[in-house]
Amino acid sequence: MKILLIGANGKMGKKMQEFLKLQNCDFVALDKQNIKQYKNSDADVVLDFSSSEALKQNLDIAKEKNLPIIIGTTNHSENNYKLIDNYKKYIPIFISANFSLGFNVMLEILRNLKQLKNYQFVIIEKHHKKKKDSPSGSAKIMQKCLEQNNIKYNTVSFRVGEVVGEHSLQIYGENEFLEIKHIAQSKMLFCEGAFKVCKFMLNKKEGLYSMEDMLKSDCL
Ligand code: NAD
Repeated sequence: MKILLIGANGKMGKKMQEFLKLQNCDFVALDKQNIKQYKNSDADVVLDFSSSEALKQNLDIAKEKNLPIIIGTTNHSENNYKLIDNYKKYIPIFISANFSLGFNVMLEILRNLKQLKNYQFVIIEKHHKKKKDSPSGSAKIMQKCLEQNNIKYNTVSFRVGEVVGEHSLQIYGENEFLEIKHIAQSKMLFCEGAFKVCKFMLNKKEGLYSMEDMLKSDCL
């Protein structure tokens, strides 16, 4: 498998390069200054760890090369979701704000809390001080899971130190307290997940794919 890695000079991009080298996986490292190089590069998938503002460019690259695209960026606008809806007619698109297996299994629990809907819910997320979006894309997925069961919540975000990523859901009842928590201990976690997703997306038909699709498949 050969990967066109977009955003290769960023924090995630650099980690991804490190990870792919350890896997002996071929890749082309693309960032703002050398993006045109995609034209002369053959590959099997496009992996996007750049910025939500680069989404159209990245979808155009995938469409021109007729390749699946895995979108790992967060903070997408309504307009970006419209673009994805349009491009999924032509190419396979995978999007997830969090490639971690553990986090996505935690979401399964969050989708099944309707018996507690009269309790009080708080989503707490912490990330390193350089993270641009707030709340995080992962916290927004947690919010959607609760909304599916009409559960009301508050969300609190912290941008502190070098925290890789912490997401917890605190649930307060009259006489009990629950906490469901995921801690990413290294960015390598997201690299491992992204690599699994790239393999999952090889030879897929056009359409939109998610972590839920991957968890349901036998590819793990
Ligand atoms: P970063 O700012 O450190 O890096 C982004 C890189 O993208 C930079 O090198 C920048 O030059 C490049 N870039 C920006 N516009 C570009 C363009 N038009 N063409 C090519 N390259 C371009 O950010 P980061 O911390 O590496 O995070 C990148 C994205 O990944 C963020 O949206 C972040 O939220 C997301 N993220 C997702 C996961 C996940 O599991 N899906 C995990 C961690 C981070």
